[in-house]
Amino acid sequence: MLDIHKIMVPTPYSVGPVNAYLIKNQPLTLIDPGPEMPAALDSLQQGLSALGVAVKDIERVLVTHNHSDHSGLAAWVADQAQARVFVHELEIRKLAPEYSYYQERYPFFAEGGLPEWELKDILDDADPLLKPVLPEPFIEAVTGGEELHFDGGSLQVLHLPGHTSGHICLYNPVGKELLAGDFMLKHITPNPVMEADYPDFSRRSPALRQYLASIKKITEMDIRINFPGHGETIEDNKALAAKSLQHHARRLTKIQNLLEEKSMNAYQLMRLLYPKIRGFQIFLGMSEIFAHLDYLHETNRITREERNGVSIYHKNPCA
Ligand SMILES: [Zn+2]
Ligand SMILES: [Zn+2]
Repeated sequence: MLDIHKIMVPTPYSVGPVNAYLIKNQPLTLIDPGPEMPAALDSLQQGLSALGVAVKDIERVLVTHNHSDHSGLAAWVADQAQARVFVHELEIRKLAPEYSYYQERYPFFAEGGLPEWELKDILDDADPLLKPVLPEPFIEAVTGGEELHFDGGSLQVLHLPGHTSGHICLYNPVGKELLAGDFMLKHITPNPVMEADYPDFSRRSPALRQYLASIKKITEMDIRINFPGHGETIEDNKALAAKSLQHHARRLTKIQNLLEEKSMNAYQLMRLLYPKIRGFQIFLGMSEIFAHLDYLHETNRITREERNGVSIYHKNPCA
């Protein structure tokens, strides 16, 4: 049996606290330690000490994906405890000091028709957290399919991309527990975050195709309880997966229908659906729209034409 404990760690984001998890079997393992900020560090240390554990006792750190609210403290914990950090190989380049979050996304903004002032609005809304950096000697790359052993159980590493390309979940086949990171959350639908595809960084990763395939995989698994990266524990995993599939199916149909009335670029669609959002939310809006447009295009439900470097989408007359 795995002895899993949740530690709530504050974040500066609207999503609220992140759930770190301690697995109190040997080797002592910490999943998603939280963001790099003083209040998070205090909460993590208090949470661990309430469980009778000091940071230096941690023997292994698992990071579900490289978003700063999950992975920010990984380097600090690894350094304090001389522990290794297990992370999917597709997340590793994002943890390098020279990685710039927007650099590889600029061409997608241009292709989407995002005006200059909107880009400035995104860039001016600086992340309150520092970009997570993880020195290479701490990193243990995983690709999915690995079995992480404990005294009294094991966790399987599942590669379930879509929220990020290298998102992993951890599954205990005996207790039928899933540690889901941001793959599935009870109250919000995770954003299929726009990122460059590996190894051809000039393309977007097919985030929604990956996400829907990941959700379908999960529906075939026997999951008794799902410990997500934010919010409450999920008991009816199949119902939540079905809800998520429905949500995206509806969103796909809505976008397809809007394009029947009028051809548009990604930015125009984003503003039609989200007229009021500002700052980083504009980036998330573009992400959401591009993920759905790319999926509709891949499945021949819409067509795309390039005009002056901007992709314009039309309904497919044959669809
Ligand atoms: Zn995330
Ligand atoms: Zn998150």
